[in-house]
Amino acid sequence: MNYSWIKNQPDDLLIVRDDLYPFLGGGNKGRKMLSVLKEVESRNCNAIVTTGGIQSNHCRVVALACAQHGWKCHLILHGNKEAFYNQKGNALIMRMCGAAIQFVEPQDIGLAMDLAMENLSQDGYSPYYLYGGGHNKAGVEAYVEAVKEFSAELGLNKQPDHIFLASGTGSTQAGILLGLEAIGWNQTKVHGISVARNQERGIGAVLEATHFINPEFDASKILFYDDYLFGGYGLHPAELNDFTMTVARDSGIILDTTYTGKAYYGMLDLIKRKKLSGNVLFWHTGGLLNVMC
Ligand SMILES: *Cc1c(COP(=O)(O)O)cnc(C)c1O
Repeated sequence: MNYSWIKNQPDDLLIVRDDLYPFLGGGNKGRKMLSVLKEVESRNCNAIVTTGGIQSNHCRVVALACAQHGWKCHLILHGNKEAFYNQKGNALIMRMCGAAIQFVEPQDIGLAMDLAMENLSQDGYSPYYLYGGGHNKAGVEAYVEAVKEFSAELGLNKQPDHIFLASGTGSTQAGILLGLEAIGWNQTKVHGISVARNQERGIGAVLEATHFINPEFDASKILFYDDYLFGGYGLHPAELNDFTMTVARDSGIILDTTYTGKAYYGMLDLIKRKKLSGNVLFWHTGGLLNVMC
């Protein structure tokens, strides 16, 4: 596992570098996909149907994985179609990998997914239905394993007091929570900074994801903040842009403005406001391609 120490940020800060995860272009979607792929292979599927926005990190890893395996890839995208065909970053990689692209309105995604599954089956494929974001049991398990790997490498006496991360569908946060439970690091608090959802919905999503593995998981352990949305998913006012520039200049850590920039900003603010102390870990979930579109 890759990690870096950053000096003076507020104290020394440990960063898990999943932005550099060495698989399918990195990020938490790369890590989840490695685990999802085992399931796709065990079911002998040869096509994947999934969904996301035009700069979806998840859709990028699926397009790359399908190209590597010679599988059919069907991506159901929502957002600006013209931008998708003009932008670089994840959109370019999806196009380069030859994924079949279908644009729908957000409310029609479920129906389009079902239809794509049906059509692929009729064409003789064995398709795998993958929720957006890699939000399923295998995706959560990837992060249970990541925490085990991390704790083994760092040493059991280096238990962080606080872990911060960007939280979207909630499966990464759920996996980290379950991983901590599995290794007995029960004092570690996991702070999910929302990139899209309000607190109630976010906690519900994280809880649901923990239940993929442990149906008894206690909701009171889920810390989820919607104070750092900066207007909503994908929105990034000047203050946030400036913040990511400052962090890059001061520490050489690249944050994107959709996910990790909001989480890092939220982390610094929560540490200050709640006077949190002890070992702090930022779990960098990726987003490098989101700054290159
Ligand atoms: C998808 C994503 C997240 C959120 O992960 P979830 O498991 O959906 O909560 C955070 N950071 C980046 C860079 C992402 O692409």
